[in-house]
Amino acid sequence: MATKKRVTLPKSNSWRFFTCGLRIRVLIITILFCVVHAGVTLPVTRADDSDKFSKKRLQMVQRQIKGRGITDLKVLRAMSTVPRHLFVPDFLKRQAYTDGPLPIGHGQTISQPYIVAYMTEILHIKPEHRVLEIGTGSGYQAAVLAELTDQVYTMEIIPELTDTAAKRLQKTGCTSVTARQGDGYYGWPEAGPFDAIMVTAAAEFIPPPLLQQLKEGGRMIIPVGSPFYVQHLMLVKKEEGKITTRSLMPVRFVPFRRSQ
Ligand code: SAH
Repeated sequence: MATKKRVTLPKSNSWRFFTCGLRIRVLIITILFCVVHAGVTLPVTRADDSDKFSKKRLQMVQRQIKGRGITDLKVLRAMSTVPRHLFVPDFLKRQAYTDGPLPIGHGQTISQPYIVAYMTEILHIKPEHRVLEIGTGSGYQAAVLAELTDQVYTMEIIPELTDTAAKRLQKTGCTSVTARQGDGYYGWPEAGPFDAIMVTAAAEFIPPPLLQQLKEGGRMIIPVGSPFYVQHLMLVKKEEGKITTRSLMPVRFVPFRRSQ
């Protein structure tokens, strides 16, 4: 009589493949879970992003600003503090700390970091000073000035730039800056007189209303010259009612425009 024998069949290769595949699938799901979980913690990567900008900013101060002779500690601190990358169009953020001007739309530019620091240093701004800037542009220079005094007034002739700059200044916490749209040729008589005036567009001559709004002992920095020719950065002082001017260096700025 034939006896029944239990035969254990050897596991087929396809079964092994199936169970092995299962393990791999579990592994893949675990890896995917980790990746997704890591995605939830992405803000950490964003924080690293701003660290990256602070590093670039400090390098900019070391190489372009200190390296070229700017020594005023308050100006160096201001340049190290203000997030320049938040004052340029998004697509130029990565170039924000390079050694040159950058376009900000409407044919205008944000000045080279060194020029911003140089013009700020030469005005000898004290915390109690009232400062007028003509040519808000991106709002960056106004933000740098706001690190030195709480009384910064800035004027811009292009309405769209005025709006964007005002929003940026709010967003970056520069709430002490007063910005308005208008032709800076006439200055801001209601807010004056000013201890310091900075003009960031090249004028053919120094606008007389700005000279009138400069306080006794006050300083003005202004690029003077034709938009298509050499311009000179001029330091203007009012001492005992008299105006003196000194040419500091050749520069290239966007033209000073006039309303209508
Ligand atoms: N200080 C700016 C640089 C802006 S470039 C910054 O930090 O980004 C010069 C600016 O001056 C331009 O935005 C231009 O529109 C403005 N401008 C030119 N003529 C002007 C005028 N008459 N009154 C006010 N702003 C003027």
